[in-house]
Amino acid sequence: MKVITDERCTGYQRAGHAEHPRRVAATTAFLKSQTELPITWVAPSEMVADEIILRAHTPAVLARLAVPEDFDEDTPFHENIGAFARASVAAALAALRAARNGEAVFSLMRPPGHHALREKSMGFCYLNNIAIAALEATATGAQRVAVLDFDVHHGNGTEDILLNQPGIEFFSVHQFPGYPDTGAENRGRNCFNYPVGAGTPRLTYRAKLAHALDDLRVFRPDLVAVSAGFDAYVRDPLADGTLLPEDFYWLGQTLRALNVPLFSLLEGGYSKDLPALIFAYLKGVAGK
Ligand SMILES: [Zn+2]
Repeated sequence: MKVITDERCTGYQRAGHAEHPRRVAATTAFLKSQTELPITWVAPSEMVADEIILRAHTPAVLARLAVPEDFDEDTPFHENIGAFARASVAAALAALRAARNGEAVFSLMRPPGHHALREKSMGFCYLNNIAIAALEATATGAQRVAVLDFDVHHGNGTEDILLNQPGIEFFSVHQFPGYPDTGAENRGRNCFNYPVGAGTPRLTYRAKLAHALDDLRVFRPDLVAVSAGFDAYVRDPLADGTLLPEDFYWLGQTLRALNVPLFSLLEGGYSKDLPALIFAYLKGVAGK
């Protein structure tokens, strides 16, 4: 298992904010302390060209990253947030490359990306890592890219950017109603939403995930990109999901069984158990 991370991604925070540096720091420590799953650690090194980001975002979004004002009440401005956001994109692109080399790979970075719209940063997200990577994939030879988002919140930004993009299908399983109050219905010809009510029993939630994965299989992707959020966990403080660690293991295992190049990026997940949830998922992806 290759894990892409950069300790500098813990270098920004706002006191009291749920998307805090400990999410990555504690997960890194946890994964380094275990011996069950051999991990190769890699730091994203490349500079990302603006043209790669601008497939997904307007130039105004890039320019706005340098303006020292909060983006919305959930999405603070931080000094150098543009560099942090670009490093997260770089990790996503490195994950894409690793997947194409046949490696099992996970990007353990912040900020997350799936709420960032084409024209606006929002919801703890500044640049949409997964959408940028999916568009890079189709621009460089992928024919059928499936994007699965199992974060408990709808991947509204990813949907906004990937809507009706040729060669891409988007599948999002999320709590609805719930932030950001989108994702009740399918959109366009390629965005498929699987809303789950708050507090839905665990096995029903899991059946919804299985349904999305069945539909994803029908698409016959040649590449699978995963927005891996761990906030559908029963003890997550930000939502009302019911999943257990073994469900994230099962997700990893089921994605592995697709037997196509696969990469996953960290989105949400705010409980203190986040490291164990990521570990369970990685074991599934690695076939352990
Ligand atoms: Zn989330």
